[in-house]
Amino acid sequence: MIQINEHYTKLQSSYLFVEIARRVEAFQQQNPGREVIKLGIGDVTRALTPSVVQAFHSAIDEMASDQSFRGYGPEQGYAFLREAIVASDYAPRGLAIGADDVFVSDGAKCDTGNIQELFDSAITVAVPDPVYPVYVDTNVMAGRSGAWDRGRYQGLVYLEATPRNGFVPSPPAGPVDLIYLCFPNNPTGVVATTDQLARWVEYARSNKALILFDAAYVEFIRDPNIPHSIYEIPGADEVAIEFRSFSKTAGFTGTRCAYTVVPAKCTAYRADGSPHSVRDLWSRRQSTKFNGVSYPVQRAAAAACSRHGRHEIRQLSDYYLENARIILEAMRLIGYSCSGGQDAPYIWVDAKGAGSWDLFELLLHKAGVVTTPGSGFGRCGEGFIRISAFNHREKVETAVEKITSALR
Ligand SMILES: *Cc1c(COP(=O)(O)O)cnc(C)c1O
Repeated sequence: MIQINEHYTKLQSSYLFVEIARRVEAFQQQNPGREVIKLGIGDVTRALTPSVVQAFHSAIDEMASDQSFRGYGPEQGYAFLREAIVASDYAPRGLAIGADDVFVSDGAKCDTGNIQELFDSAITVAVPDPVYPVYVDTNVMAGRSGAWDRGRYQGLVYLEATPRNGFVPSPPAGPVDLIYLCFPNNPTGVVATTDQLARWVEYARSNKALILFDAAYVEFIRDPNIPHSIYEIPGADEVAIEFRSFSKTAGFTGTRCAYTVVPAKCTAYRADGSPHSVRDLWSRRQSTKFNGVSYPVQRAAAAACSRHGRHEIRQLSDYYLENARIILEAMRLIGYSCSGGQDAPYIWVDAKGAGSWDLFELLLHKAGVVTTPGSGFGRCGEGFIRISAFNHREKVETAVEKITSALR
């Protein structure tokens, strides 16, 4: 008998975006011709930048000739890209990350989902609430949780992000082994200060724990005092893995390129307590199960790391941040308390005592604007909605006018 992985049966259906789509569809059927503006999903809307496109094109031309054709590339990624990443993202901040610590991949979603298989199935996992669902579901699939019970999986430790802690959870009182953190955060849009991250690094060091730091939105940080990398905290290279992506940064959601940094000193432990290199494990895992990102995509990503490419990307993120500023200002003006929207493309809106779905419905029906109910990201998201700044300026301006007249 071919038996299934029973842990999959614990998974909740990815109800959120399906349910949003169902309600939007129903609304459009009842209101044919009425414009619906989508500020719900976390996907970029603007084109790849010129230097990226040019590098992409010329790499394809290279593939079109026997002389310059490339077959399988190195599983860890081409050195030209890993070196470009270090030179653009780490060396300028004085961080001792080497090209050998960088693993190129086709997505931070895959990497944040796959990384857990390096660790024992009995470890204790801590996840934020609200959360990017990939962290949770992949651990459930691997059998690190119990059953679903009133909106949470038994056996996981939930790090609550609420107005009381400014949506930045502190380390738990008890010991946990694997900790997922994401800053700038999806869905709350908040960033973590050096002190807040230092407390987590201190916790991980004294508990022999490991931090998985998702920095997919790092490009949106404008506040000069906010750390861009977990490795800005001394000692983090022994206890943290960092995930980054070209998706939101350079508009690569449909092009696919990301990378994971596992410093040489990053350590986990054998059952007998002896230390083991995490980088060696990830290298072994990737070279066995992953065959690299396509050559043209890696050339395109390297162009995004060049001086000119970085300038273009900055303009992309400036554009979305201006959208975020417009949304944030409008929501505050009509009396909603919000977080995020300054160093992140998401605005997390307190529904003023209404349920997440209630405010979602109100905005859909009265303003024709689609948002994301916070409750879909976890129990602590109830009573909030997430508004995304990923859309065209005119759409954002129209959405904001409609929201204002609907809620005023
Ligand atoms: C969008 C996003 C990513 C990026 O995923 P890719 O697979 O690289 O497109 C990673 N983490 C979070 C929290 C995100 O929202």
